[in-house]
Amino acid sequence: MLSVDTYQTIAEAAGAMTDRSRFLGGGTLIMRAVNYGDQSFDRIVRSRQLDRTIKVESSGIRIGAAATMTDILASRDVQFLHPVARVIGGPAIRNMATVGGNLFAPAPYGDFAAALLALDARIVMSSGQAEPVESFLAGRNHTRGVVVAVQIPAVNEADFRFLKVSRVKPKGISMLSIAAWLRRGDTRIAWGNMGQTPLRSKAAERLLNSAPLDEAGIAPALAVCAQDLQPFDDALATAWYRREVAPVHLKRLLLDGGRR
Ligand SMILES: Cc1cc2nc3c(=O)[nH]c(=O)nc-3n(C[C@H](O)[C@H](O)[C@H](O)COP(=O)(O)OP(=O)(O)OC[C@H]3O[C@@H](n4cnc5c(N)ncnc54)[C@H](O)[C@@H]3O)c2cc1C
Repeated sequence: MLSVDTYQTIAEAAGAMTDRSRFLGGGTLIMRAVNYGDQSFDRIVRSRQLDRTIKVESSGIRIGAAATMTDILASRDVQFLHPVARVIGGPAIRNMATVGGNLFAPAPYGDFAAALLALDARIVMSSGQAEPVESFLAGRNHTRGVVVAVQIPAVNEADFRFLKVSRVKPKGISMLSIAAWLRRGDTRIAWGNMGQTPLRSKAAERLLNSAPLDEAGIAPALAVCAQDLQPFDDALATAWYRREVAPVHLKRLLLDGGRR
């Protein structure tokens, strides 16, 4: 028997969570799980207090966890994230899919979470504590509480790039996705669908930090870019294929911004 409990505040909702509960974001994955008869939870917890705001703050940008992909696309303050939000599902999914929910979306989903990993975002929990997205994703589970917002450092739009590789266009799920934050001396490259959660190419990042962004300069980084990744077999591709094509797509992203 499934129950749905609604609380006035996020704090109350977070306090009511158990390992048999799931917090409801936009419901694009939860409601599908319910329809498929998923028995791993028997309670949906929701809150009337939802934060969908996208705010520029002194240290960067704060995005409420309940902001949808459509909200992202409507905001000029996060224009650099439009290429990410635009390729998540079709219009109906984008209207419901939240930033908070994407952090928990298992492979083959999690394109927005990969972008947040490249951007070194911090995840703000209902307890008020904030945690780097990398450790949040590594320790991800449903009993960790409710995410209320993500914080992104100030980003120069020209330094951020994103590429989603899918077999069905325009709204097929990713075979892989790549997000890159190309800051001088502090490059971050994050991948979706090259592991069960988004992962970084740390060996490649180190080499890119000291190399020019041209064909010869990026070659050593391309050679090691799959080293820190854990690709898997699924209906879209084998692990072997993902590993083989990873440098091809990273090269495309670095040299021409991912345009195809
Ligand atoms: C047809 C289809 C196509 C899709 N295409 C893509 C795609 O291209 N790329 C992609 O990345 N994803 C895709 N998705 C997956 C999904 O729509 C998105 O990942 C979305 O962002 C999930 O957010 P949600 O709010 O709907 O999550 P929900 O279904 O509400 O929740 C998903 C999980 O996150 C947890 N959760 C949600 N919000 C919070 C919170 N604030 N705090 C704590 N836990 C929370 C829930 O408890 C649940 O376990 C697709 C899904 C469908 C059905």
